[in-house]
Amino acid sequence: MIKLIVLSRDGVINEDLGRPVTTVDEWVPIAGSLEAIARLNQEGWSVAIVTNQSGIGLGILELSTLHDIHKRMYELLNEVGGKIDVVAFCPHTDTDGCACRKPAPGMLYSISERLGISLNNVTMVGDSLHDMQAAMASAVSPVIVRTGKGLKTLDKHKGLEHIPAFDDLASYVDDLLAPKVDEEADKADKPKVSQAKAQSAKPQSSKSVQSGKSEVSKSQSSKQQSNKTQTSKNQSSKAQSSKSQSSKTQSSKPASDKSPSSKALSTKSQATKSAASKTSASKATDGKESNGKASSSK
Ligand SMILES: [Zn+2]
Repeated sequence: MIKLIVLSRDGVINEDLGRPVTTVDEWVPIAGSLEAIARLNQEGWSVAIVTNQSGIGLGILELSTLHDIHKRMYELLNEVGGKIDVVAFCPHTDTDGCACRKPAPGMLYSISERLGISLNNVTMVGDSLHDMQAAMASAVSPVIVRTGKGLKTLDKHKGLEHIPAFDDLASYVDDLLAPKVDEEADKADKPKVSQAKAQSAKPQSSKSVQSGKSEVSKSQSSKQQSNKTQTSKNQSSKAQSSKSQSSKTQSSKPASDKSPSSKALSTKSQATKSAASKTSASKATDGKESNGKASSSK
């Protein structure tokens, strides 16, 4: 069973600029965020990103630059032993009326389908009201961080008090991975959190290039319709990371066993939920979702 944490990108992993990040140099990680992702990986969590990138639709961000930015992100993550399993981005603007732009939950459904898992036990960490709304429109549990727009979001929008709030991604991960009293015995045979920090292997970065390319190929199928999510699975980086990890720690293996049964289940629950959400209902219920590739069974 895959354990998945979904992250918003800007304001959670990297500094929010209050506008789209349009160059590689503008992508500046928030202190501790990359290490936090690595610690999640170390404890068997898969990590996905859902990010609104309206800069593409607005014509101020080239698709190729977005891939370069993500390539840089993979490289920096690789240096601390972290990886991202899937990146879903919405290239549309507010006025496109697509099903993927947050607060719509389309990208979450897309990731669910990509990984073949139900969203029922998934947590999404975000900093904006749209992040919280996207999570709540699906079965995903929201968590808000005070980085990026987080403080302002909490201040401005009353009614979010029930959502768990943390100073930043690192403190959320600290809390998540802190041994619970009841589970202490169970955890005794698992690697300690601190091992993630000790891991400083730097495998060649050439493979990150490939993962960037896989995003490009997915995006080419965007002609038929405007409301679709583009998802890329960072497979090469995943394989690479698990290889490098297995040489360092014997017991921690990334959760990569996708059971067919859970896949079937998630598809079903996804369709049910989609029916309730106005934007993506018609697409998801016919089992095709937005992107034909995403639904192809392997
Ligand atoms: Zn969209």
